[in-house]
Amino acid sequence: MNSIPPFDLTEQYKLIGEEVGAAVLEVLASGRYIGGSPVEQFEQQFAQYVGASQGIACNSGTDALYLALRSLNIGAGDEVITTPFTFVATAETISAVGATPVFVDIDAATFNLDLDQVEAAITDRTKAIIPVHLFGQPVDMTRLMEIAQKHQIPVIEDCAQSTGAEWQGSKVGGIGQIGCFSFFPTKNLGACGDGGAVITNDEAIAAKVRMIRDHGQYQKYRYEEVGVNSRLDAVQAVILQIKLRHLDQWNTQRQTIADRYAQLLRPLPGIVLPQSMAGGKSVWNQYTIRVLSEGKPGNERDRVKQRLQEQGVSSMIYYPLPLHLQPVYASLGYQPGQLPVSEQMAQEVLSLPMFPELSPMQQDQIVYALKDSLAVG
Ligand SMILES: *Cc1c(COP(=O)(O)O)cnc(C)c1O
Repeated sequence: MNSIPPFDLTEQYKLIGEEVGAAVLEVLASGRYIGGSPVEQFEQQFAQYVGASQGIACNSGTDALYLALRSLNIGAGDEVITTPFTFVATAETISAVGATPVFVDIDAATFNLDLDQVEAAITDRTKAIIPVHLFGQPVDMTRLMEIAQKHQIPVIEDCAQSTGAEWQGSKVGGIGQIGCFSFFPTKNLGACGDGGAVITNDEAIAAKVRMIRDHGQYQKYRYEEVGVNSRLDAVQAVILQIKLRHLDQWNTQRQTIADRYAQLLRPLPGIVLPQSMAGGKSVWNQYTIRVLSEGKPGNERDRVKQRLQEQGVSSMIYYPLPLHLQPVYASLGYQPGQLPVSEQMAQEVLSLPMFPELSPMQQDQIVYALKDSLAVG
């Protein structure tokens, strides 16, 4: 029995390796490694894919969020509403521009921001809302945009885990004022290294993102603001162009795997399966179940994870401690129990292996191991 990793990029490389190799060698032979047409072409193709007019590539998803916040002039004294149940970059970038993250609890059914609680968190200082389409599942953008528009607050979508996901037929990232994407290798569209992009329909925002990305200059050697150096390499741009052509197919494969997980796991007691929302199309960056402890002593999820590991199945915990309780945010003064759903989910979530090439046989092995793990004790 072979062990199963949480994700495996080698199968995908077998499919596109030859094409990727040739494209990379072409860039190497060209002598142009920074900027140039591969990057510009990818920016256009990616913006078109998302359904927005402007695409700006950068060094990472983290930088995309940072650039988006800077482009809206968000800084010291400002508040930005977001979820505590996300990767640290979502809040870290709010802090990096000098603003304060305001954490709102999540909805247990979707792991996404609880929109019933967003409006109450809005103050005079709120300068943006950052919803995260977590695990590939879109936030109800109709409702969020209604709230945001009523209070005239821009929405920055964190789409790092949701490239290709849709809300009511529109791709996420093009619905709010700005969409931020990551091309970290394990995201739905992953580079062979770091990469990210900012997407918008607002030309002024796009120009400002480009300016800050390039050391704060619109014009060479004339610096308007303190900028950064955040570039997507030409090598990554050609790889991403190739992979973008496969993205919809890969997302369809993820959907098939998610459907099969749902079918095979449905009869199991003690777990809750991820639910899809009407109107949303998830791209399943993760397949995250909840393992309930239900009166059992200690944490049943941790035991199940351990038993899966003993049977060669690697699972992951996204995320073990919500951001409002992290040491880095102790100074914000949140107390345990304050955002109870996020805290409970951190105790229960378990992400099963999920990648487009996961075979039915591997999936059977995972399901068998999970059934076995749940039955023990
Ligand atoms: C991965 C991720 C990021 C950061 O992307 P990087 O490219 O790794 O910098 C931001 N937000 C979320 C929700 C992520 O999953």
